[in-house]
Amino acid sequence: MSQKGKINVNTENIFPIIKKFLYSDHEIFLRELVSNAVDATQKVKKLATSGELKGDLGDTTLEVKVDKDAKTITISDKGIGMTLEEVDKYINQVAFSSAEEFIEKFKNVEGGINIIGHFGLGFYSAFMVAKQVEIITKSYKDEPAVRWTCDGSPEYEMGEATKTERGTDIILHIADDSIEFADEYKIKGLLNKYCKFLPIAIKCGEEEYTEKDAEDKEVKKKRDTIINNTNPAWTVAPTELKDEDYIKFYHELYPMAEDPLFWIHLNVDFPFKLTGILYFPKLKKTFEVQKNKIQLYSNQVFVTDNVEEIVPEYLMLMQGVIDSPDIPLNVSRSYLQSDGNVKKITSHISKKVADKLGELFKNDRPSYESKWESIGIFVKYGMLSDEKFYDRAKDFCLYENIENKFFTLEEYKTKIGTLQKDKNDKLIVLYTTDKEAQDSYIQTATKKSYDVLSFDNIIDQHFVQHIESKHNDIKFNRVDADTIDKLIEKDEAHASVLSKEEEENLKKYFEENIKQEGVTIELKALAPDDMPITITKNEFMRRMSEMSKMGGGMYSFMGNMPESMNLVVNTNHALSSRILKEENKSALINQLFDLALLQQGMLKGTKLTAFIERSVEVL
Ligand code: ADP
Repeated sequence: MSQKGKINVNTENIFPIIKKFLYSDHEIFLRELVSNAVDATQKVKKLATSGELKGDLGDTTLEVKVDKDAKTITISDKGIGMTLEEVDKYINQVAFSSAEEFIEKFKNVEGGINIIGHFGLGFYSAFMVAKQVEIITKSYKDEPAVRWTCDGSPEYEMGEATKTERGTDIILHIADDSIEFADEYKIKGLLNKYCKFLPIAIKCGEEEYTEKDAEDKEVKKKRDTIINNTNPAWTVAPTELKDEDYIKFYHELYPMAEDPLFWIHLNVDFPFKLTGILYFPKLKKTFEVQKNKIQLYSNQVFVTDNVEEIVPEYLMLMQGVIDSPDIPLNVSRSYLQSDGNVKKITSHISKKVADKLGELFKNDRPSYESKWESIGIFVKYGMLSDEKFYDRAKDFCLYENIENKFFTLEEYKTKIGTLQKDKNDKLIVLYTTDKEAQDSYIQTATKKSYDVLSFDNIIDQHFVQHIESKHNDIKFNRVDADTIDKLIEKDEAHASVLSKEEEENLKKYFEENIKQEGVTIELKALAPDDMPITITKNEFMRRMSEMSKMGGGMYSFMGNMPESMNLVVNTNHALSSRILKEENKSALINQLFDLALLQQGMLKGTKLTAFIERSVEVL
């Protein structure tokens, strides 16, 4: 007995449309069909547990078989199977109408192609790669097996089949334009991508392995390749996992990576379902946001590693897995961003991460400090980009000084509170962006017992700006932003030993001799044993220029500003008096200027060579 029918659709032939729509993502057919097979297997397992299944459950391993010559892919399960009525209902009516509904919905959406990728078109996605699809299925119920075929037109054929084992085979006859899928290697790759953590074992092809025989000789043997880990760590209760288990799973995800620093096991039931493990990797100083490191799953089926719109950028520094059946997968990215569930998920993760960091800080501060180099980038990035995270993190955000001691902002305020205050009671925080290059400035500061923080990450520039905007009682200055006394603004300026007239002359000599663009000459009566001349870079101007170099948003109008600097001449230094009397002023002034440039690490190239030659001559 065989039955022919016409699938109940209005569109004459929806398959060309399915193909067109799904062009960018044809490979998901495998994900859809294997998911169906897993569902059917889980259903039959439930029936076995409840006693409804008569007979033996047997081995439930799924199999994906590729026949290159016949150009077929067969997905076989030992699940519940379908009766004739069920094929009619689920395949001919329900599945088809949902496929049609989808097409109707998105046919006219602008950029329709882009919305594809993460929806469940289900069974009919098989037609993205197949010119003909066969279903051979036998229900667990005592009913005859069914064979259903369809060649991609709305007409199908359905009749009895001879299959005796419970379960379903889906046979895809691969279309000529999709022939690349009729390849076991390719299919294994796709199974590894989409099905690596599905809960039912999947075999595909064979692999060689070696075993020792009775005489201790190595012999090559073959066995089925099992694609998936059916019990990935995120689906296991945290109480049952040891550190090693988390680390092992991490390496399953990222075989080449170093061990992670720590991790967070997410487990939410309400108001949405979400599980997962997020790992905190070791970060490099010159960090690059590593996208595509977090993998998104839906009920253990891989959906995407492009989580950009779902997870805020700073959280993308983390790695691992998020699994949520509540993230709508069948809609566009921009819709995702405005989706209430997605927003809740994001803020939940952000809170969890902050909680974890807070806990580490509180329970084991030394270990937290030792990881600060990595954690710091993340915390600062988060504080910069998320107000809520800022509020949670501000109490465990650390500041490291040049002696590698760590402070919270409050602790640091207390530390520098008495000494580093200006006339207006503002706290002056001194920092260095490069301990080596700014050494002489640091020494000048530490000689006066001032403390210097170390801000050597590119994110620190923005971070400093941000902290200042939140605390109007603190001002950050790089150690070379001005002379140290001026920075702290203590009223202990020295009187100048030079007369007004001598000072004017001195300034004139410098201006005549130093013709470099962006240099401002400034006379200051410093201590006689302070440096004779120093180059300082106004904090505000320097920040502006650095931001403009980084092309940072609001500063970009400035283009590439020339670097501006002040040349501070210490009128009280003996050399200043000497210049006034010296005959060859030019040589002395230029030598001093070069020394100052050298101190800032700014003397380079031909100028440096000339300086060295000149110095040798003098000696
Ligand atoms: P969905 O899986 O979203 O319900 P599909 O189009 O993928 O939509 O499948 C439609 C229905 O066909 C399924 O709900 C299921 O009842 C049935 N089905 C599909 N594949 C199988 C299978 N391998 N074994 C048993 N039933 C299946």
